[in-house]
Amino acid sequence: MTRVRFAPSPTGFLHIGALRTALYNFLFTRHMKGTMILRIEDTDRTRFVEGAEEDFIKMCGWVGIEFDEGSGIGGEVGPYRQSERTDIYRQHIEMLVERGTAYYAFDTAEELDAMRGRQQQAGIAPKYDRSSMRNQFTLGEEETKRLLAEGAEHTIRLFVPLTGETRTRDLVRGESVFSNRLIDDQILIKSDGFPTYHLANIVDDHLMNITHVIRGEEWLPSLPKHIILYQAFGWEPPEFAHLPLILNKERKKFSKRDGDTSVKDFVAKGYLPEALVNFIALLGWNPTADREIYSLQEMIDLFELTKVNKSGAIFDVEKLNWMNGMYLRQLPVERLVDDLMPMLEEAGFNDVDRAYAVTVVELVKERINFLHDVPEFADYLFGPVTSFDEEYHAKQWKEETGEQMKALADRLEGLAPVEWKTEMIEGVIRSYAEELGMSAGKLIHPLRLSLTGKRVGAGMFETMEVLGQERTITRLRDYLAKVEG
Ligand code: GLU
Repeated sequence: MTRVRFAPSPTGFLHIGALRTALYNFLFTRHMKGTMILRIEDTDRTRFVEGAEEDFIKMCGWVGIEFDEGSGIGGEVGPYRQSERTDIYRQHIEMLVERGTAYYAFDTAEELDAMRGRQQQAGIAPKYDRSSMRNQFTLGEEETKRLLAEGAEHTIRLFVPLTGETRTRDLVRGESVFSNRLIDDQILIKSDGFPTYHLANIVDDHLMNITHVIRGEEWLPSLPKHIILYQAFGWEPPEFAHLPLILNKERKKFSKRDGDTSVKDFVAKGYLPEALVNFIALLGWNPTADREIYSLQEMIDLFELTKVNKSGAIFDVEKLNWMNGMYLRQLPVERLVDDLMPMLEEAGFNDVDRAYAVTVVELVKERINFLHDVPEFADYLFGPVTSFDEEYHAKQWKEETGEQMKALADRLEGLAPVEWKTEMIEGVIRSYAEELGMSAGKLIHPLRLSLTGKRVGAGMFETMEVLGQERTITRLRDYLAKVEG
């Protein structure tokens, strides 16, 4: 039975990289019909951020990632918080000390600094030098017992053999071999008595029967240590998969400097969960060469860890915006209007008729990537035109334009109210253009400017139908009066 975990540290709100990790765990385990666990790795109390845990659950839920265990909601087992499991780590470190695979060390911060200084001078890589420092081996059992009884400050370190090699296996990266000589005697229990990430993480993965550890590439360098730790306990390690880095367009690590990285910022900016989750899934994986739009269920059906890329994935916000537009157009218009109504209020368009809002959304959705673009993109459909694009006027408004617009207004006024339909409006404009022996575009540009104040918008004839006959004629005549005097 597949069991995976998402194990964030509550040192900040859920960011894009962590969401990708959660998502890949989710896609994989749902594909395998396995279990998804949430575990809060909060042993570093100095970096604890209030509200982070709630944010993880909320943001994951927003894109459709559900936990089967550990979130503490819905009555399932959990929550799993490492800060509430310190007794378990204590018991386990004692097991290691007894087995001789972990040991006490009494070095002070100054002594460790001096050691690093010596190593730097000698040009060797920094690593705990068991033979020259103050620990269980150099001090002997008696002295160690005495110091412990005295309550001397200490850490507990992993015993890494000086000879031999450690083999690691990663489902994305393949196999690697490391010389033990180069692997550090990792601190497992800190001087404050709390376990380090490494100890708590491995004990929990074992006790929670995790079968696959799927996490960010930044943990890859720790993998040999983790394998040694599994051996130290005499446990079988799970499978590992390290996910590629997320990069900005300059191929540097995607970070706060690149703008928003918290998922909640993307929510606030109006991204749709379906679009964000689709986009995030493709940061390091794409099941086919010719498609980019996938529903969550399709991704679950297609997901394979062995197809995850090794090389970094570029976070391209333009692609995300495009994808948001794609999803926006697929969603039922009723849902869009539910979300749009408060946005219209906020933009100062009160009491907009819901059925009218539906018509407007149908009209403009092809042209926008965000729902919150609607109040600005189509302001002229909800209220009067408040400003006109003067530069565009100078370009489009010719000597004869005023006269043509006036004639057009008269013809449009001649349509019976029941005839005020896109095709009829189009017919009137095109036949007039034909009479004048010019392209319809030459009439449409100044017409758009008069009716909307802008140079771009949805189809002009459709827009005029939505605007209605009366508003169209009035606006056209008002603009003529304004510019022709
Ligand atoms: N707590 C670690 C993190 O937030 C988890 C790493 C892991 O999945 O092992 O990155």
